[in-house]
Amino acid sequence: MRTQIEIYDTTLRDGAQAEGINFSLSDKLRIADRLDQFGVHYIEGGWPGSNPKDMEFFQQAARRSWRHAKIASFGFTRKKGVRVEDDPQIRMLLDAQTPVITIVGKTWLLHVKEVLATTAEENLAMISDTIRYLKDQGRIVMYDAEHSFDGYKDEPDFAMATWKAAADAGADCVVLCETNGGALPTEVSRVVQAARAQLTCAIGIHTHNDAGLGVANGIAALEAGARQIQGTINGYGERTGNCNLTSVMPLVQFKLGWRGVPEESLPKLKELSEFVDEIANVRHDPRQPWVGQTAFAHKGGIHVHAIERVARSYEHIQPEAVGNYRRVLVSDMSGRTNILVKAKELGFELAADQPETRQITTGIKDRENRGYEYEAAEASLALLIRNVLEHRPAPPFAVETYHVSMRGDSRNTLCEATVKVRVGETIHHTVAEGDGPVNALDGALRTALARSFPKLQQIRLTDYKVRILDGIAGTAAKTRVLITTSDGHDDWGTVGVSENIITASLEALLDSIEYALLKK
Ligand SMILES: [Zn+2]
Repeated sequence: MRTQIEIYDTTLRDGAQAEGINFSLSDKLRIADRLDQFGVHYIEGGWPGSNPKDMEFFQQAARRSWRHAKIASFGFTRKKGVRVEDDPQIRMLLDAQTPVITIVGKTWLLHVKEVLATTAEENLAMISDTIRYLKDQGRIVMYDAEHSFDGYKDEPDFAMATWKAAADAGADCVVLCETNGGALPTEVSRVVQAARAQLTCAIGIHTHNDAGLGVANGIAALEAGARQIQGTINGYGERTGNCNLTSVMPLVQFKLGWRGVPEESLPKLKELSEFVDEIANVRHDPRQPWVGQTAFAHKGGIHVHAIERVARSYEHIQPEAVGNYRRVLVSDMSGRTNILVKAKELGFELAADQPETRQITTGIKDRENRGYEYEAAEASLALLIRNVLEHRPAPPFAVETYHVSMRGDSRNTLCEATVKVRVGETIHHTVAEGDGPVNALDGALRTALARSFPKLQQIRLTDYKVRILDGIAGTAAKTRVLITTSDGHDDWGTVGVSENIITASLEALLDSIEYALLKK
């Protein structure tokens, strides 16, 4: 039997504390639904006492059926000097009707005295009264022991007494919380072992990433015997975030060899990570371990050569295991192997000894020296390779002339673009307006070309980035424009470079349209 680790997700509660993250009710339900499908064991939905939206979530959650996960509500121990059954916050927790209730309480004597302004004895009573009462109501109770590590360091006996109070009152799991995020893995490991030696119930871990050790501390605790781990998708959370479950889940499975979520879920990990980012309206972090776009990207020529032969020589795991994929970046550093691999990925057959291969490699290097960059502009690269392989085929269309102008008054500005495009023998002449010059140009071009190529009606510009490059080859500053285009199924990037931003944009726009026409 492999060790089973419980995955406790708090994206919707602790994760929602992150700056810039704000979930609507429907966002929360969609994320909870996805987490349930993925197979996490617990989904903490919020604190019913904090706002009506959280309470609404629990009302909706109670009506749904959940396949894997148990829904948890989050709250505090009873107030000091109040009977637990008279505490309105505890009442709200029960009203949330979740199978699991997670209670947070104080471990650090400093906090008890200075923040709660009460006695050690009353703090212990607050913990045990609350847990016993909720257990009597038939709930699963997790006890989140706030500041476990700082508290234990300061007053180990008192910290241990609080955890024992929780365990004796019937807590299903005592979760040691590394609230301030500053502990080292060795310290975490030591404290978890000490707790394990004295407590009879299961031990959990909840960490924060303030010192960049959120995941490391979580894993250290599991190795020391904790059996539940709390965290968030993509590591969302206050300050620098919580323990990142997107790293924890594959670590549990592939590195510790234990069981977390169902095995068949892990190939959907990247998808889950991107989904949550999308709902949170956060740009997916390309450097995120396991699931980021660059997690299995190879740039150096020697690496790429080796990767071609034995993937495992430069990869700690197969990218497909977590739903990621290997990417070979084309750049200054790369040798010919990169180009071959990239060409294959883009659907071209190219051999190392073919004269075109040298021509393409030189062409790319030359353009990179002039400020082009192909790492995010694969469609432009595909066109470049194709043009060499097919010996400069006639383009499907040609821009004969274009004109962009702008007018404005004290309130608004408006741009207008006119283009004259030739498709075979036909000339299309169109004009379009836009709130910026590129927007207007894009509109005019696509209106002109859609008459001959109706499939262009499906495509739209989804992202536009401008970078000013200075000092290249001693010339005036150049502008590099990167455009992302989508047809609703695929996205592709194109690049244009010029001293003039309009010319650079037009180049990238034309590549994006030409690629759309070639694409199957
Ligand atoms: Zn936390």
